[in-house]
Amino acid sequence: MAERASGDLVLTGVTRTYETFTAVDNIDLTIPQGSFFALLGPSGCGKTTTLRMVAGLEQPTAGTISIGGQDITATKPYQRNVNTVFQNYALFPHLDILENVAFGLKRRGVSNWRVQAMEALELVELAHVAKKKPTQLSGGMQQRVALARAVVNRPDVLLLDEPLGALDLKLRRQMQIELKRIQSEVGLTFVHVTHDQEEAMTMADTIAVMNGGRLQQVGDPGTLYEKPESTFAANFLGQSNLLRATVSGVSQGVASLDVHGVAMTVPAASLPDGGKELWLGIRPEKVRIISDSADATGLNTLKGEVTDVSFLGVATQYLVAMPWGRELTVVQQNDGMPRAQLGSNVTLGWVPENSFALDASQDADA
Ligand code: ATP
Repeated sequence: MAERASGDLVLTGVTRTYETFTAVDNIDLTIPQGSFFALLGPSGCGKTTTLRMVAGLEQPTAGTISIGGQDITATKPYQRNVNTVFQNYALFPHLDILENVAFGLKRRGVSNWRVQAMEALELVELAHVAKKKPTQLSGGMQQRVALARAVVNRPDVLLLDEPLGALDLKLRRQMQIELKRIQSEVGLTFVHVTHDQEEAMTMADTIAVMNGGRLQQVGDPGTLYEKPESTFAANFLGQSNLLRATVSGVSQGVASLDVHGVAMTVPAASLPDGGKELWLGIRPEKVRIISDSADATGLNTLKGEVTDVSFLGVATQYLVAMPWGRELTVVQQNDGMPRAQLGSNVTLGWVPENSFALDASQDADA
């Protein structure tokens, strides 16, 4: 397949309003060339509208879109070197698989279309079904053909709009790994829209979290998970325990906190700008059930009563009621450690560095 010059996809102040409703609100994004980028957010947050503007199917009300420094905001969809793979594969039923993949190449008059289309089919491990018709393939195979058909055109940007949405869970998980492999082999920029946080974290180098038309946070999966910057991101990417806390002092890089009358600490560097009122966040798997008080040295601790025990296979989830009425969720690996009993009183503890602090002027969103 021929090499083609391209570059970063850059959105600057991109906005889309429908009458009085703002679906996409002033988005600034730089998507590096060759990266696997996920737009993640709940239904209606503006992901598809953003993608459609990149494809040229929708016109921004304000802002610009460029690829490799070239402004494409006003460029017609078919003149952009951008391809889209949708959830419904939309293969041509009367053409065989090879012809489906070769369709764009033939239309552009590419002479070695057969070689290129076969290469693309090999990439998705479907060269052996080149002569079959789409209806003879499973849903997962059809989706891979749709991907081969998009990749063969070597677009500057490949847009994927919930492409795995129609597949069952097991196939979906397989395809996530497969898509990641294909992207790294072809080295094209993939922009993948999904509302599934696990899917985004599995596949993407970088995730942009969207809510209500706005970008909430952009980062690699590890940073987004470990250091969410909003209560929305903290709750949308996995589970978080959020505790109301007041900063009582800062000394030598450590902030002292009051959490419902219990003294705790958090690294001062993790304090958000703003007031003394915080949400202190801690992931369920970062909380330990402590059986011996000697193990609690250096940890933030809380006492509570186990109100639910759920076996999850590799781990067990506990709900632990706090004296102030809220429950903390704790997830412990089932690695032979003793398990707490329903109704027992336990001490919970976590390493202060494992928690994160958010400005409490935000809604807990819990
Ligand atoms: P989903 O995952 O459900 O597809 P999404 O995050 O992709 O959601 P969009 O499809 O981008 O969300 O829609 C964002 C908002 O804009 C929604 O509230 C939607 O109703 C609204 N919207 C989208 N297209 C139009 C339109 N043509 N006219 C009016 N409102 C629209």
